[in-house]
Amino acid sequence: MKEYGKPLPKPTPWSKPFWDGCKRHELLIQNCRDCQKPIFYPKMFCPHCLSKNLEWMKASGRGVIYSYTIVSSYAPTEFSNDTPYIVAIINLKEGVRMMSNITGCPIDKVKCDMDVEVVFDDISEEITLPKFKLISPVC
Ligand SMILES: [Zn+2]
Repeated sequence: MKEYGKPLPKPTPWSKPFWDGCKRHELLIQNCRDCQKPIFYPKMFCPHCLSKNLEWMKASGRGVIYSYTIVSSYAPTEFSNDTPYIVAIINLKEGVRMMSNITGCPIDKVKCDMDVEVVFDDISEEITLPKFKLISPVC
């Protein structure tokens, strides 16, 4: 596998199931067994009711672009060769928001409220990043 050359996520004990899921190309989020609310990013306890009674569930991987920005200059040094690229906030169908990249299409085709689905980028032996692509065939 080619050297990634960029900062890597550092899984914590409570986020490791998320990263393990990504490695299997499954997008996992947490769910609170007490108040039944979905949770993302990975937490040690529920941010809604403070319960530690959490479980992992497989998300659909589908959502809608809530907002985005095009990074075309002043990117961190490690990412400067990737410009222009899109950093987006995605509202997953399960009701949580996730920050990621929109990939696989010209950046001028991306708009808010577009439907997206997860794709997985195996960047190292240990880490796979969840990214998103447009569902509709505008690319
Ligand atoms: Zn809760």
